[in-house]
Formats: sequence, C-alpha cells, structure tokens
Amino acid sequence: MSRSSEPKCKQCRAAGNKLYLKGERCLSERCAIELRNYPPGPRRRRGKITDYGDHLREKQIMRRMFLVGERQFRRTFIEAKKSRGVTGEALLRILECRLDNVVFRGGLAESRAQARQLVTHKFFLVNGRVVDRPSYRIKSGDVIEVKPEKKKSTFYTLKRENGFVHPPKNFWLSLDEENLKVTVNRLPQREEMEQNVDELLVVEYYSNRI
Ligand code: SF4
Repeated sequence: MSRSSEPKCKQCRAAGNKLYLKGERCLSERCAIELRNYPPGPRRRRGKITDYGDHLREKQIMRRMFLVGERQFRRTFIEAKKSRGVTGEALLRILECRLDNVVFRGGLAESRAQARQLVTHKFFLVNGRVVDRPSYRIKSGDVIEVKPEKKKSTFYTLKRENGFVHPPKNFWLSLDEENLKVTVNRLPQREEMEQNVDELLVVEYYSNRI
C-alpha cells in the first residue's frame, strides 16, 4: 500500500494533528482540525492512548505529512539509522530533501500534495534536466527551475499575479521569483526542518522493529 487515498482533512482528523496537506486552507479558520477536532466517523471521542499508540501515531503523522508510503518510509528510516549523526534528525533531513518537499518549501507550490503533482507532471528541471520523481534527493548546490514552457502556464501566471504563498522562511533555500528558480544553498539544520513532528517518538517506534 502506498500513500493513503483518504480525503486529506480526514487524515488530519484521524491523526488528531494538522498535516498541512491543503496549502493556504490549513492556515485558515476553515481548517477541519479547527472546526471539528475529533476523529471522523460516529465515535467522536479519542480513546486513551498507550505508549505504543503514541509512537505509532507520530510515525503516521510524519509519513503522511511528507506523503511517503509505508515501505518507503521504513527504507528511509533504515538509511537514516545507518548514517552518521542523530537518527531522528537524519530521517527528517532525508524527507526534507525530497524534490516535492523542496518545491513546496521553496515557494513553487502551496502544499506538498500540489508540489508532488507538479513534479509528476514534469514541471521542473533539476540542474537543467527534467525530473519527475517526487522522492528525488536534492543536494546542496542544486538548482530547481520551472521548465520554460510551464512558466507561462495558468498556474504560474496566477501565482505570480497573487504573490507566492510560502516564500522560503529560512536560509537553506532561496527563491528567484522572476525566473521561478529555487537554489539549495545548503542542507537544512534541525530548526529549519518540520517543527510539527517529534522524530524521537518515530525512532522509538522503530527501535524494536529494525
Ligand atoms: Fe489538515 Fe489542512 Fe485539512 Fe486542516 S485544512 S485538516 S491541516 S489538510
């Protein structure tokens, strides 16, 4: 099973946490978590949560936030575990360096889901070559640019007119709005990565399994 096909807001309500899957709406009062912060379905109450449930929930939140399937997420964790440094931070860094995430963080899409769709529709060049794989790993110094013919698309024409929704908020990425180009200045530090997840709980979840 790859990514969940459940409606996005339902996934957030099931997780009891914002997964930020719908761009601008997630930051508004129309967010389903703001309006109905209880699980979908007739139950309406969250049961008592065990330690295991807590770890599992955090793993699901991180996986769904970055739109990664179960098996791929596990493989990513194994890779992070083998790497030097702190496993949780390494895991987050690998996820942050996915092409779809960099497109989103760089300001060329309003959500990771939208970024993912644009990538699969071949909107981007990475260092001058078309890449349509959302999981493509970005390195320091890479340049991601909207393909010349896609710069005139309705999506980017409107985006230019309305301004960019998520210009990069940190120094590891910089956006050239005129040329629709994102440069990866360096790899992100922990404080520049996703703040709404606790990677230690994810490490604990896998500690007895891998
Ligand atoms: Fe989740 Fe965004 Fe829907 Fe809110 S609006 S419930 S954060 S997908």
